[in-house]
Amino acid sequence: MQNVEAPTEKVHHFPCPSCGADLLYEPRDGFLTCPYCGHKEAIPQSAAEVVERSFEQYLRVRPEQMGQLASGALEVQCQSCGAKSLFMPPEVAGRCEFCGVQIVAQPKSADPIVAPEGLLPFALAQPDVAVKLREWLSSRWFAPNGLKHFAEPEAIHGIYLPFWTYDTNTATYYTGQRGDYYYVTETYYEKDQQGNQVQRTRQVRHTRWSSASGNVSRWFDDVLIPGTVSLSSDRLRALEPWDLSELKPYNPAFLSGFKAHRYQVDLGQGFEHVKVIIAGQIESDVREDIGGDVQTIDELSTHYSGITFKHLLLPVYAGAYRFNNKVYQIVINARTGEIQGDRPYSVLKILLLIVFVLLAILILILVFDKK
Ligand SMILES: [Zn+2]
Ligand SMILES: [Zn+2]
Repeated sequence: MQNVEAPTEKVHHFPCPSCGADLLYEPRDGFLTCPYCGHKEAIPQSAAEVVERSFEQYLRVRPEQMGQLASGALEVQCQSCGAKSLFMPPEVAGRCEFCGVQIVAQPKSADPIVAPEGLLPFALAQPDVAVKLREWLSSRWFAPNGLKHFAEPEAIHGIYLPFWTYDTNTATYYTGQRGDYYYVTETYYEKDQQGNQVQRTRQVRHTRWSSASGNVSRWFDDVLIPGTVSLSSDRLRALEPWDLSELKPYNPAFLSGFKAHRYQVDLGQGFEHVKVIIAGQIESDVREDIGGDVQTIDELSTHYSGITFKHLLLPVYAGAYRFNNKVYQIVINARTGEIQGDRPYSVLKILLLIVFVLLAILILILVFDKK
């Protein structure tokens, strides 16, 4: 087992100059902060911009040209959902945030990845989010009592999720049919109220079809594609919007005290998702170009060029809880505080409410009957 090397020495990435403990990123003020002595240190402002990379070049990238999230980063895979967590000591593998199982595999040195270009730092601190989560839970009337687990302070953890964004030029050739409406006056007969046959007219719509062909082009900017498959795309979409204008150039200091997930959707697969997402816009461009009142599209072929991408990390708090053989997931946008989670209903609580309402009605009937 040569490729599985358990780390032996403890690596300090951002040692506190006063006490030697690890400085952690504090979302409340954006400083690296010592949890023991309170020492604070600013993360150096980077003059670098979050740049876009050429897609074609990176598709042929070799592992030795790839990077690391941080030197000494560790990686461990969840045996249940397959998500790969990347973290820096003193973080530990712990529980999978998406499916709630305890991760038993030994962490190994992280394999190289396409290094992130930028990230949105955590803006909300774990204790503040935990308070919001407790409020959210108490507003879930029919939630089973087991979900109270999420009210525990350590129920959620901060993780950076991997995303890709792509820019691309598109040039689309199409052939199709253009339909224009025209109206014809038709004569018909009917009986009036006196039963006499009368002649009337009406307008009837027809469509004149003619063949159409042409080219449309459009530039797509920053199409966001999740790099994770451990969360459903619906759940991820519900966490939007992300304030991507606030992106910071990647710096491992932002990860201190958090985990990151390795992308499971690779660069090439991500672009296939882009094609699906932008197809609707291209189709409506084609319909507009054909014109007329109705259109049919017979053939459509799109050429993509000048493709660039960014690998981004976006911050969430997440936790999962297993209860009655089901997994309940909670994910929170760590920029906006938007909470997305399973809203299970307790059958028992609903039945109790129904019984209560029926009893109340019965009592009312009895009371009014006596009068
Ligand atoms: Zn310290
Ligand atoms: Zn998992």
